[in-house]
Amino acid sequence: RKLNKDDVPEAVGDGRDGSAAKMVAAFTDLSIDPRLLQAVNREKFAAPTPVQAKTIPLALTGRDVLARAKTGSGKTLAYLLPVLHGVLRHKAGFSKVRETTALLLVPTKELAAQITSTLKTFTSYCTQEIRYENLSKTEDAAVTKARLAETPDIVVATPARAVYWMNQSLLKSDRLKYLVIDEADLVLSYGYEEDLQTLAAALPNGVQKLMMSATLRTEIDTLNSVFFADGTKPEILDLSA
Ligand code: ADP
Ligand code: MG
Repeated sequence: RKLNKDDVPEAVGDGRDGSAAKMVAAFTDLSIDPRLLQAVNREKFAAPTPVQAKTIPLALTGRDVLARAKTGSGKTLAYLLPVLHGVLRHKAGFSKVRETTALLLVPTKELAAQITSTLKTFTSYCTQEIRYENLSKTEDAAVTKARLAETPDIVVATPARAVYWMNQSLLKSDRLKYLVIDEADLVLSYGYEEDLQTLAAALPNGVQKLMMSATLRTEIDTLNSVFFADGTKPEILDLSA
């Protein structure tokens, strides 16, 4: 659905909330790749939603972010735009190297399909540069295997699928730069904690983590112990009010 006018505050980014996060008023104020902006323009989105306005600039600085915002508030683009921007930048520097640099974890195969379709929309001006695969499709494993052998830049999967293909040595974690967990509360309540632990242990140093959720309470403790055990602290953004 498109957002209601009321979902977007009239003056996003006046900074009056005293937040340390840099605020922006328009998508064009975000320092994101013009090919991504073109795709955003085509969607006719008037302005970033609050969670996008806060998350995107922070994510572009490389910070880990744990964001809570209600359903329908635009969390997908809040992480996808900085991740796509980063992947494009990376590809510009190392164009000949094929490596999976972003792993997007979701709780269900339905959400995996939805995120993959959003990826299609927002990469339509950089189809040559960015390849992505959904590992949670219902398809023959041989088909997934062949697609993975092409080393997509971005992989979308439930944690169990990601771990499965990692154990087959077809999904490689050693070049990852971005780890996203969408609907983190559901990922945890669906019993994926052990898979997350396996994934966390396989991450190279310096992977940027972006985690989004409609609710975040006890989940914060779990995410902290699984992903931030090294003492690094994510920026916690709460836009649920
Ligand atoms: P959430 O993950 O927080 O539930 P989504 O990312 O699925 O929300 O976005 C909800 C809807 O809002 C989607 O249809 C999306 O296309 C739309 N949307 C996202 N960002 C904007 C924006 N800046 N302006 C208007 N609509 C937007
Ligand atoms: Mg969502």
